[in-house]
Amino acid sequence: MRSATLPNPNRMTLLVLREAGQPAKQVQMSKPLIVAVPLIAILSISGLIVSLQLQSTQTISRLEDQLQSQNLRFEAIVSDKNAAIERLQNEVISLSSQSQSMMNRMERVAELEDQLQKFIEKYGESDAMRNLSALSLGEAELYHPDDPVGVGGEFIAVHENEIEQLAAQTRDQFQEMNAMLDEMEKNVPLTLKKAKQTQFSLSGTPSEWPTLSKRLTSNFGYRTDPFSGRASFHAGIDIGAKQGDPVYAAAAGEVLTAAQDNSHGKYIVIQHPGGLQSWYLHLSKVSVSEGDFIKKGQTIGKVGSTGRSTGPHLHFEIVKNGKTIDPLPYLQ
Ligand SMILES: [Zn+2]
Repeated sequence: MRSATLPNPNRMTLLVLREAGQPAKQVQMSKPLIVAVPLIAILSISGLIVSLQLQSTQTISRLEDQLQSQNLRFEAIVSDKNAAIERLQNEVISLSSQSQSMMNRMERVAELEDQLQKFIEKYGESDAMRNLSALSLGEAELYHPDDPVGVGGEFIAVHENEIEQLAAQTRDQFQEMNAMLDEMEKNVPLTLKKAKQTQFSLSGTPSEWPTLSKRLTSNFGYRTDPFSGRASFHAGIDIGAKQGDPVYAAAAGEVLTAAQDNSHGKYIVIQHPGGLQSWYLHLSKVSVSEGDFIKKGQTIGKVGSTGRSTGPHLHFEIVKNGKTIDPLPYLQ
């Protein structure tokens, strides 16, 4: 018998059962191997589990990182939005205060324009005035709030950048409007002053017929003197009129003289702004005083026959640079 039949304490016998009808098989293995195989299996499974756990931990931390960075991105976006909203709010506040100051300036300009309008209405809208008022407004066509304005079109959503752009544009427009208002505020008073000056010099030119009657009894120039019968110079025109008829100022001006003497009788001299003087002689009544400011066409006295006169009439003279000139070309 071989020693194999003897039990070996270091070896173990594994009995492998096969299909029915087949003989069972004996496999002899060393004891340590029997222990080592499952141990290795357990160890490798544990390793697998540990590595799987490690992997999943890594995946989780990666996901966490991603989430966190995404959160940060969202926070950044939200803070961007908040900043944009704040910027827009500030824009709106600034625009609203600018619009308020614009309104105040518009009101001031409207007041000035109103003054100009009243002035034009008061003195009649002559061509000169129309030109002047047109000058004040420049060539720009003014928008009137009652003008019909067509609106419509499709709705297109706007991005906040566009709104900021719009706000910036509006601010620019406000600046332009402010500049326009500056110009108007400067121009309107100048125009008013110019209109007043023009009106003053127009009204200061003797052109108003000085009494009711249009009957000329003596012209300007050389004539036979009605008293002496000798050739003499007549320094004005004589208008035959009824005693007591009103005498009108031929132009606006200041009463230089309101007096009486043997030659002129009761008489008035008006100094006009353009440098001319008008004289009114032989009055029965003087209704103004020296230093009075007289409007064109204002009644200043009454027709009479005082002084060197043969009957009720108005002697009317115009003096330019100290010399009498023919008044007829001036009168209407
Ligand atoms: Zn005369």
